[in-house]
Formats: sequence, structure tokens, C-alpha cells
Amino acid sequence: MKRHDLLDIIVVILIVMTTGACGRMTESTDASQPENPIIKISPTATEVETLASAPTEAVTPMPDGPSEYHLSYAITARLDYSRKTVEIEQAITISSLPIDVQTLVLVVEPNRYPDGFTLKSIVVDQAPIEEFTLAGNQLQFELPERSPSEAPLLVRLEYGILLPEIPPPSEMYKPQPYGYTERQLNLVDWYAFVPPLDDQRQWLVHTPPIFGESLVYPVADFTVNLEIAGNDLPLTVAASGSAVRTENRYQFTLQQARTFAISISPDYEVLETEAAGIKIKAYAFPNSRIPNQAVVGYAAQAAALYTELFGPLSYQQVSIVQADFLDGMEFDGLYFVSKGFYDLYDGTVNGYLSLITVHEMAHQWWFGMVGSDQALEPWLDEGLATFAELQYLEAYFPDQVDWWWAYRVNFYQPVGYIDLAIYDYPSYIAYRNATYLRSAQFLFELREQVEVEMYTAIMQRYLQQEQLKISNAETFWAMFADAPGYPFSELRAKYFKQIP
Ligand SMILES: [Zn+2]
Repeated sequence: MKRHDLLDIIVVILIVMTTGACGRMTESTDASQPENPIIKISPTATEVETLASAPTEAVTPMPDGPSEYHLSYAITARLDYSRKTVEIEQAITISSLPIDVQTLVLVVEPNRYPDGFTLKSIVVDQAPIEEFTLAGNQLQFELPERSPSEAPLLVRLEYGILLPEIPPPSEMYKPQPYGYTERQLNLVDWYAFVPPLDDQRQWLVHTPPIFGESLVYPVADFTVNLEIAGNDLPLTVAASGSAVRTENRYQFTLQQARTFAISISPDYEVLETEAAGIKIKAYAFPNSRIPNQAVVGYAAQAAALYTELFGPLSYQQVSIVQADFLDGMEFDGLYFVSKGFYDLYDGTVNGYLSLITVHEMAHQWWFGMVGSDQALEPWLDEGLATFAELQYLEAYFPDQVDWWWAYRVNFYQPVGYIDLAIYDYPSYIAYRNATYLRSAQFLFELREQVEVEMYTAIMQRYLQQEQLKISNAETFWAMFADAPGYPFSELRAKYFKQIP
């Protein structure tokens, strides 16, 4: 296949920076297209529509255990689209916070950027907080004395954020979804959020990484009121939840989710379909109509399959946004797929547009529904999402399974233990090869040993048990305790550094 130089450059950068692109594009095969879903083109992303069919039952069990607090965020945000500023008033309600927790740490990612975060006030239950520390992505202050009452803790913040320009692709830096380009503005990890408490009741915040992800998110209920000003052109708003819109005001609600992401553009064209009770909206730039049709088709198939294999999703809408940066990235109810993959789409399933679309969709389960510590156990969500690519092909394109192994995994000859923290891998490539590719090999071998039917049943139980929690590898293994072959000593020694 002959390619233009620019495509070569994109391919090279994708190889280095993304979830695992491949420099050797395989020739098209006769893989058939996904079945055409019913696609509706809507003029804006935010119309409130009533679904004719009943949505999947909402699954919203409360987290259990006495030390599990319950979180909700009420955010009022005024975005000036031309100035790239947002003025924010945020109320954080924390119920059942253990009384011996006397300091609160909030994660404020915008503070990592120059002039990115300007704090105006903090009030905890009526008491203004004058003393705090703000360093890196952490805002920390002492809590006023509390009585051991049932009353939830109420934290009110006022602050402004200045969005950074998303830098052009580089081999030096991790791709950055947060910020703006000429045609896209992304609010991701844009508000202050409460991290989880660890076993010692310390707030769990990891050092920002050079590669990989480090944030750990407990679930929360979100109410987001967004007002947009400073735009000359009509804008289309993609978000983690559906909106009630009144002119330039959008009111979103999302229950029991880890993140709330928004992406805005004057240029988005929207395709829409539905699968397994999940409304799927795909937002792309005008020259990407054909690949976007493929994206919405792959996403619908994947959503239907994962609902069957893993269990129902707790929310009813997933938005897919063509990223104006070279990476895929998952958030609850919204994920990005790199524009590079749309550009390279050749009309077949044999490329990264399909694989990353279904990979990021799998993160709605293995990241969103079942959380994990992305810094210390990155294999857990990345391995399950990469393995889900194979599960997708097995279900819809079984004759492409060999292609997937060759192109996605074996081409890289991946080595290394899969269970290291992101900080312990010497390079991005070493990290990706282990946590994505070796993890997929491991999960395949595990499924071979326990057989498909039992593996599927165990993973369904895992989702049931761990949904809305932050899971870990130990719990994952414990799910297999009754399976033949447990504790899988040989398998564990092959892939894991830490073996019991
Ligand atoms: Zn992933």
C-alpha cells in the first residue's frame, strides 16, 4: 500500500504515542463491513429526545462498607468560548466521611498548566477556609471540627480555569486531551474532585505520569450547569450525559459515574444510533463522514456484545468524539478516538479505527463500571479493554482473529511483566507492550484454561460484585478461586512479577 508522506508521519507518531498503532499497515482483506446500524443525523448534539424503547434497567447499588463515603458534585460553569476561560462554582457533598479524616485533598488538574487555575474561595459547611496549600494537582486544607453526626460535609469552591492550547503531536510529550485547538475545546478532569481514601484513610493521589494514566476516581453523582458565551458560531456540545438545553444553557445530570467530560466544537457532525438500550452519539469533523459511519457501527456492535458478555451499563448514553489530538482516551459516557485513525480508515475493519473504537467502548465497563488504580495496576483496565478488541472480532469478524494477533500483538513481540506500576516501566513502549499486549495474551490463556463459558460467567460476577468500586488484581484473582486450575501458578509466574 502506497501512502502519502503525511500519513507516514501520522503513523509514526501514532506508533509512539497511542494505545498501540502499528507501522505496518496490512493490506485490505475481504473483511465485510459491520452491519449498518440505523443512523440518525441530528443537527445538534443536545436535543432532548425521548427514546421509544425502554432503556436498560439502571444499576445503581450503593458502595458498601462503612468507610465508603458518597459523593456528589453540583457544578455551575460559565464558559467563554473565545477567551478559553471557565468561571466555576462547585458544591461538593461528601456523606459518611470517616470522622478521623481531618484533612481534605482535592485533585485540581487545571493547576498543572500555567495560570490554569485561580482559586477564589473555599467554604466548608458555612466556615470560610483561609489556609490551604495548592501545589501541582492538589488543593489541600484542614477540615473544621466536625461532630460525629450524620450530616454530610458540604464544600463550596469558587474558581476560574484558563484552558491550555492542546500542543501539536510530539514524540516528547504524552498527548493531551484537555484544552483547545482551533476546532475543538475539551473539558476533561476540569473540575476539582475528591480522590479515594486508601486502606489507611489517606487520600490516594499519584504523581502525574510521563506516560499512562494516574488518576483514580471514586464514583459520584453529577449535576453540571454549563452556560456558553463568547462564540460567534453555533456550537455543538458532546458530553458524558444528556442535556436539557435552553438556548446557550445546558443542564446535565449523570448518576454514579467517575468523570464528567465535555467536548465542544462549531464543526461537529453527529451520527446517532442505539444498541442494547444505550444511545450512541458519534461526533466528527466534516471531512470524516465515512469513517464516522464506521465508528458508530463498530461502537453499536461493541456495546451490544459487551452488554451480553459483561453485563448492563449503568448509564444509557455514550458519546464518541473524534479527537483533534493523536490519542484515544476514555471517560465515563464519553471517549475520544484519534483523528489519525479516521484519516487512515481504508473501508475495512483491519485498522486502528475499529480496534480503538471498541477498545475505548470496553473502558465504559473496565474503567467506568469497575474502577481500578490506573497508576499502580494499569494492566487491569487496559488488559481487559485490549482483550475486548479480540472478543469483538471473535463475535463479528471471526476470520480476522489471526490478523488481530499478528497486527495488534505479535508484531511488537511484547515482553515484560504485566503487573508493574506505570512508574516502573522504563519507556512508553515497554509499558504499552506489557500492560496492553501481554495482558491480552494473559487473559487469552486464562480463558483457554478455564474455558470460555466459565470465564464469561466469572467476569459477569466480577462486574456485579465490583461495579462502582475501585477494584484490584487481588479481587480479580479471587473471582477465579473455584475455577479448575486455580491458582494458575504457571500462568501467574509467566506474566506476573508478584505471585502469592
Ligand atoms: Zn485503554
